[in-house]
Amino acid sequence: MLADNLNEIKETIKLACARAHRSETEVTLVAVTKSVDSEVAEQLAELGVEDFAENRVDKLLDKKAALKKFSSIKWHLIGNLQRRKVKLVINDIDYFHALDSLRLAEEIQKRAEKAISCFIEVNISAEETKHGLRKEELKDFINQLSSMDKIRVVGLMTMAPLNTDDQKLHEIFSELKNTQNMVKEMNLPFAPCTELSMGMSNDFSIAVEEGATFVRVGRGLFRGA
Ligand SMILES: *Cc1c(COP(=O)(O)O)cnc(C)c1O
Repeated sequence: MLADNLNEIKETIKLACARAHRSETEVTLVAVTKSVDSEVAEQLAELGVEDFAENRVDKLLDKKAALKKFSSIKWHLIGNLQRRKVKLVINDIDYFHALDSLRLAEEIQKRAEKAISCFIEVNISAEETKHGLRKEELKDFINQLSSMDKIRVVGLMTMAPLNTDDQKLHEIFSELKNTQNMVKEMNLPFAPCTELSMGMSNDFSIAVEEGATFVRVGRGLFRGA
């Protein structure tokens, strides 16, 4: 079941890449394991998945400990991170997908032992409150990170609102791509911004068509598992 779901998702990514004339090697499937236990996560690792994500600090650390023998796994923290929890997890992750405040950046700067690959979370569809910076705030925010050698802005991340029609999803994801280009044009060594973390179970194929390089898929992987 898990293997079938995984193959189906990989195939969907491949087809979306073909439609967009992209190479499938540009897209990393990040398995979001927040809804399953470590045993299921381990089955995924046995199937060759090497990128795992959790949105809670404690669950990420538990899974990481349980999957210790898979030494090539990269760990992604995708949820919003409370400042007081930064020190517990920041040196255990490879990517942080939800940087959205200066105070959080300062805490990461203080606690990280090496540069952390961060995605800045952008709230494209500003009607939803949720997390993330607005596009207009981004340049100032990034400039303020220039003195922080532990923050590397590898890309931008967004979450589309639930129940969004396909056309609107295309608009949201392509807007994140435009925003990425704006950041790239800033030409800052600490903010190469080559990546786009966008697309979840319901919308990852559209996200890939619009340029996603990391898709974060949870439920779709575990259907019926
Ligand atoms: C849960 C979660 C996902 C995965 O969502 P699914 O709908 O289960 O694929 C992706 N990104 C974030 C930030 C999440 O919290």
